[in-house]
Amino acid sequence: MPASPPVILWFRRDLRLADNPALKHALATGRAVLPVYVLDARLEGRPIGAASRRRLDGSLRALDADLRARGGRLILRRGDAEAELRRLIQETGADQVFMNRLFEPEAFARDADIAHGLKAEGVDCRGFNAALLQRPGAVLNGSGQAYKVFTPFLKALLATAQAPAPLDAPERVVVPDDVRSKAIDDWSLRPMRPDWSTGFVGTPGEAGALAALDAFTAGGLKAYATDRDRPDRDGTSGLSAHLHWGEISPWRAVQAARAAAATGRVPAAQAEKFVAEIGWREFSAHLLHHFPYLPERAFRPEYDAMPWRDDPEGLAAWKAGRTGYPLVDAGMRQLWATGTMHNRVRMAAASFLVKHLLIDWREGEAWFWDCLTDADLASNVQNWQWIAGSGADAAPYFRIFNPVVQGQKFDPQGGYVRRWLPEIARLPDRWIHAPWTAPAAALTEAGVVLDATYPRPVVDHVAARERALAALKTISAGR
Ligand code: FAD
Repeated sequence: MPASPPVILWFRRDLRLADNPALKHALATGRAVLPVYVLDARLEGRPIGAASRRRLDGSLRALDADLRARGGRLILRRGDAEAELRRLIQETGADQVFMNRLFEPEAFARDADIAHGLKAEGVDCRGFNAALLQRPGAVLNGSGQAYKVFTPFLKALLATAQAPAPLDAPERVVVPDDVRSKAIDDWSLRPMRPDWSTGFVGTPGEAGALAALDAFTAGGLKAYATDRDRPDRDGTSGLSAHLHWGEISPWRAVQAARAAAATGRVPAAQAEKFVAEIGWREFSAHLLHHFPYLPERAFRPEYDAMPWRDDPEGLAAWKAGRTGYPLVDAGMRQLWATGTMHNRVRMAAASFLVKHLLIDWREGEAWFWDCLTDADLASNVQNWQWIAGSGADAAPYFRIFNPVVQGQKFDPQGGYVRRWLPEIARLPDRWIHAPWTAPAAALTEAGVVLDATYPRPVVDHVAARERALAALKTISAGR
């Protein structure tokens, strides 16, 4: 055992070396650092989904490579996090643990228990905020309460959050080489037979995150406010999975956008729109912190009385991208193939499930949780409740997206749906979002056979809208 015990750097969803306060403080001790990742199914409160496991595999490999390039490596352990930390402490004599906090209520409480337990044995645990612009609980209104409306929350957030000084990745990280590590290949985080992830997008890891940010600030940012709604364009940053896994700090993204505006290359309003979207991520995290029941229950309790339908066939058609509404179907297929879905289409697809099919938002949330590489408890739940009308500052339930109009408005030439639905790609623009309305000759010409090559709508928009509004009435009456 070395004269001076090493310190543990416990990585979780802060898988980066730059702008990493726990790493900075661990290195500042001047001791050897043990960078460890513990694969613990219970860490986040619920097991991560299949797409997230795939994403995590890439991210851990990238972090290990980045550490190796600096003389270190990532130590991998599997099992109950507390037990594994104790084991590592016993093996190495480490007496300090540095970590960046997880803010999901269950994970937060668990970290506190672990810190408490280790402290009793003389091991000091120190936690930092690397995930959010401002730690949850620090943005409160004049009466000391949580904000329930986004705009005042954002204003208060931006007025109070202090950007930390940027921190470069360290040049060297010395890791003792006599500490055991598991092999990531044995963890089976990647699907093998079959590998359904070959079309996944995004390059996991810190370098991938920085490259995405650079490309965005040099490209899409200048027209972000309008192009962010266009699934047929490359108008958004693609940072969500990087942010979720902590491969980049949200401050770095905010400051890069503002720096681009400061040079005059990008209008300030475009940069601030992007900052506001990062603000939605913060709002989601703050809401979950203050209202920990949100993954299970509606923020507006009357919505838990909604007469949801049990419709396994409708749910299966939605998951498979076979509802007959091209925008919804294209989105669901993009999700399956790439591990992500454009935000505008997430909204349309989610709305279709909860309003047109009248299926409980929790079913959709669970599917997204399993399929998204950026699946994030706070953001996913907040957005699903926003769509369902049951969330804080949510879209009113009675505003029901028409999936055809959404398609015509945001994918006017049908470029997006053609990409994901090759079976209708040859339809002319005017029918691309509503194939069942095309004349027989146009369908034949495009090689479309309704209900054979592409389904008719599983539900009629007008009838579904009426059914949804009638369901809303039943809960409004009970209020
Ligand atoms: P950009 O437009 O470039 O936005 C920049 C960043 O802002 C994003 O990376 C993200 O971190 C944040 N952001 C943008 N919009 C939102 C939003 N509405 N809510 C919270 N943060 C936002 N996002 C997730 O990160 N994880 C999820 O599990 C998730 N589930 C969603 C479920 C539904 C039903 C809906 C409608 C949206 C969901 N979102 C989720 C939000 C949003 O769709 C994605 O963050 C966005 O599509 C990611 O693409 P981007 O990084 O290119 O976004």
